Amino acid sequence: LDPARDDSVRTVKNCVFSVAQPTPLKGPLKVAAVSKEVLEDILDWDVSAAETDDFIHFLSGGKLLPGSIPLAHRYGGHQFGVWAGQLGDGRAHLLGEYINRHGERWEIQLKGSGKTPYSRNGDGRTVIRSSLREFLCSEVMHYLGIPTSRAASLIVSNEVVWRDQFYNGHVKKEKGAIVARVAKSWFRIGSLEILASFGEIDLLRKLLNFVIDEHFPSVHASDSDKYLDFFSRVVTDTANLIALWMSVGFAHGVCNTDNFSLLSITIDYGPFGFMESYNPNFVPNTSDDEGRYKIGNQANTGMYNLDKLREALNPVLDTSQQLSAMQILKGYPDIYNKRFQELFKSKLGFLGEDAGDAYLIAYLLKLMEDTQADFTMTFRLLSEISVQQLQDQSIPQEFWALQDLSSHKLFSDWVPMYLLRLKRNASDSDKERRRRMKRINPRYILRNWMAESAVRKAERSDFSEVHLLQRVLSAPFHKQTEAEEAGYASRPPTWAEDLRVSCSS
Ligand code: AMP
Ligand code: MG
Ligand code: MG
Repeated sequence: LDPARDDSVRTVKNCVFSVAQPTPLKGPLKVAAVSKEVLEDILDWDVSAAETDDFIHFLSGGKLLPGSIPLAHRYGGHQFGVWAGQLGDGRAHLLGEYINRHGERWEIQLKGSGKTPYSRNGDGRTVIRSSLREFLCSEVMHYLGIPTSRAASLIVSNEVVWRDQFYNGHVKKEKGAIVARVAKSWFRIGSLEILASFGEIDLLRKLLNFVIDEHFPSVHASDSDKYLDFFSRVVTDTANLIALWMSVGFAHGVCNTDNFSLLSITIDYGPFGFMESYNPNFVPNTSDDEGRYKIGNQANTGMYNLDKLREALNPVLDTSQQLSAMQILKGYPDIYNKRFQELFKSKLGFLGEDAGDAYLIAYLLKLMEDTQADFTMTFRLLSEISVQQLQDQSIPQEFWALQDLSSHKLFSDWVPMYLLRLKRNASDSDKERRRRMKRINPRYILRNWMAESAVRKAERSDFSEVHLLQRVLSAPFHKQTEAEEAGYASRPPTWAEDLRVSCSS
């Protein structure tokens, strides 16, 4: 712990955490949304508690839970390829660790809860726009089956927060909000990098041992290669995570090393985006001019970030272990590609192995790219349409994404190859194939326009659309009447064509 115990913004040395008091937002505060599942299954808190004053105070930093010593974490990071030095929790407070009735440990964190020693030039706040996006997206990622932090509550205020949304000098008045988020751990690659970079090697070893003991039960504390084993796990899990992101068209937007979790869960939702029409050059963040974090570059970025982790581990490795770490990292592309292929094979309903599978997948993606067919709906509709319908090439109007695709002259070549491949699925029925595919290809994702529409209403204190999205996105694989009525599985509305998101949050 940082011995200074004050909140002044400064360079902090030789510690992993600073004690920092949250600064609650000015009232009146309002609970905009809660996740019933997080409250009840993770925090052992009856959802009816969300109506109480205590709840609002606890989850907005006005009151501390018994035994809580709020902390801001000291970390560094490589941002857009450059070592940024000390970053840290500039607007987040770790309230503590909670052991629930299942014996699981969860770390509860507030985001937007005021300044800390790590705030640099920031105001310690976050606005409704970005906290609502984080709240909704972390929850839908969970329901899509992707490892992620979770969100317990979103509390909004009338406190004015100034933001320059597109960094063009037009400062806009927004309202402050606080998200209470939970994860098994909030440690990042940058948590280790800062210790290695400042030569705080004893502390680096201590933190590594702690992370391994708490979160990597398969790594043996007494093993002389434990740091290598740990590294190898993170390499595999990160490759798997990014393959999962790709399987739902998720672009994180800011894949800096300070936003990459050591537990390989998705964290720090900012200018993320779900890709609509398939496009490997999709960049969700308008501030990312060079497209460094475009969706098609995420796998490479994972490799870059893991290389930074490897460098941070060097001080605790001997020379031969350092070479082994390089070898481990060299395995990353294969792990990633294997996982990517497995996921996309499942998305297309394939069972077993077939030499042509990678070709069929790449072919389809290319057709989607050329025709701008919707990524989510193409896979979903292939899961809903029968082999017979595909064979007859009589694709009904409702399968609009496939209609887009069928405008491509090569689609009629792909279909027979696909059908032939489905025939090679041993002991499969078409009904079974569709059932399987519908469990992996969501019908609903958090499209940018859906989040934006909910944000605009929430800024006017109307949270009805937030709640609708929560309901719908907690079952993204199931067709739901209210979601269909809201147009969540249709073409995006025209007003949403020029929507943009930036880093400003
Ligand atoms: P992010 O891009 O949100 O991952 O943030 C990168 C770094 O900037 C982290 O250290 C954040 O804590 C910090 N930061 C971002 N916005 C603010 C803010 N409004 N006030 C203080 N720190 C911030
Ligand atoms: Mg922990
Ligand atoms: Mg961050």
